[in-house]
Amino acid sequence: MYRSIAEIQRAILSGKTALDLVEEHLSRIAEHQHLNAFLEVFEVSAREQAKRVDQKIQAGTAGKLAGVIIGIKDNICYKNHKVSAASKILAGFESIYTSTVLQRLLDQDAIVIGRLNCDEFAMGSSNENSAFGPVQNNLKANYVPGGSSGGSAVAVSAHLCTVSLGSDTGGSVRQPASWTGTFGIKPTYGRLSRYGLIAYASSFDQIGFFTNELEDMQLLLELTAGQDPYDATSSSKSYQQSVALPEQLKIGVLSECLTHPGLDPEIKEKLVQTLDKLKAAGHQIVEVSFPYLDYMVPTYYVLTTAEASSNLSRFDGVHYGYRSADAKGVEETYVKSRSEGFGPEVQRRIMTGTFVLSHGYYDAYYTKAQQVRRLLKDRTTALLQSCDILLSPTTPTAAFEINAVKDPIQMYLQDIFTVHANLTGNPAVSLPFGVHSSELPYGLQLMANDFQEDMLFHASKKIQEVL
Ligand code: GLN
Repeated sequence: MYRSIAEIQRAILSGKTALDLVEEHLSRIAEHQHLNAFLEVFEVSAREQAKRVDQKIQAGTAGKLAGVIIGIKDNICYKNHKVSAASKILAGFESIYTSTVLQRLLDQDAIVIGRLNCDEFAMGSSNENSAFGPVQNNLKANYVPGGSSGGSAVAVSAHLCTVSLGSDTGGSVRQPASWTGTFGIKPTYGRLSRYGLIAYASSFDQIGFFTNELEDMQLLLELTAGQDPYDATSSSKSYQQSVALPEQLKIGVLSECLTHPGLDPEIKEKLVQTLDKLKAAGHQIVEVSFPYLDYMVPTYYVLTTAEASSNLSRFDGVHYGYRSADAKGVEETYVKSRSEGFGPEVQRRIMTGTFVLSHGYYDAYYTKAQQVRRLLKDRTTALLQSCDILLSPTTPTAAFEINAVKDPIQMYLQDIFTVHANLTGNPAVSLPFGVHSSELPYGLQLMANDFQEDMLFHASKKIQEVL
């Protein structure tokens, strides 16, 4: 069992081959099939890649991730491999190119072990919306791992791969990281290329990473950051130190997060204790009011469903994947293929998005939500001028039982603390924080100014010292 990139590197130094590592992981994955984390294990290509990596190791030309086993969320394209966004609508579809982020990891000799289960089109907070069944939390049977990147979280937490890729549109990396005791990062919007990531809401989506160590998250970001001619929204900013990193941090805490009625009392208690410890260690805590918390989830759902309704129009039964067998004519092909191919949550969001964009309601919903998004961005930038980071719980609760949350609004409220960073584009991480009396973990979220991931890593180390 390997927890980190450093452990893989030590194994290789002590004589293990990349092929040995692949075989060990394949057996471990086979022993953990009940978790339903993998939609497909790439045995053949993983073994082939391992053999190529072993030759490079022999020749002394191997990259920084030689032998590192990675899993990819099933919405990230890997050439000549299936990708389905955990949806029936992409049945049989194979990627014809590789996502830029994944390619940069392959260039460093990482090995892709398989594609990981998730909520259909990354829409969900519990991984119960997959067309291929829910993912089990590896830390407690019959509990959800969070979503939408639930398979990616579980695969890293259960050591079925060294690190994994997920995507985060409203919390889909940080929230399952919180519920599986792993580290998760959503980089600044534009830090990583979205080329080869199946779009949900393009102005929110970012690829993110799950790891068991902070250092691994940092290394993965360094290796994948940077402009990509295939994604016009990827930033030309180089990945280097952004600001001076202070010994004593100025930490902002939003009072509305602390007093939120949905916040589990145990998590609140732990947060208050931690703030005291941070103060005692010489860091400055600034409690600030941010009276917009209750607007975030509604704004997020207006804008992301609008974007999704447009992005998902390409799945029409003609261009890709699933086509209804008994449809006649063009109109019926669209209607039947989409009705049979998309699950209920995806259909709900397409309808909501179409509604908020419709002629009579556009200004009341879509335009208004864009205005709120601007306001949130301006206020957040102002806040982060007076402190280094913002601190909050990642999630209001720890994981719940499979099938326990049936009301969609109740489910959407799981995202209350995470959608902020996607609405504003700021980078954020979730660190393992505490363990609930339900025996399940929960995370601590840090958010920083745009392109200050280095501040996030620095502050995370400082906070880990105190924890
Ligand atoms: N839970 C949120 C949603 O359902 C976030 C999803 C995501 O980040 N992909 O939209």
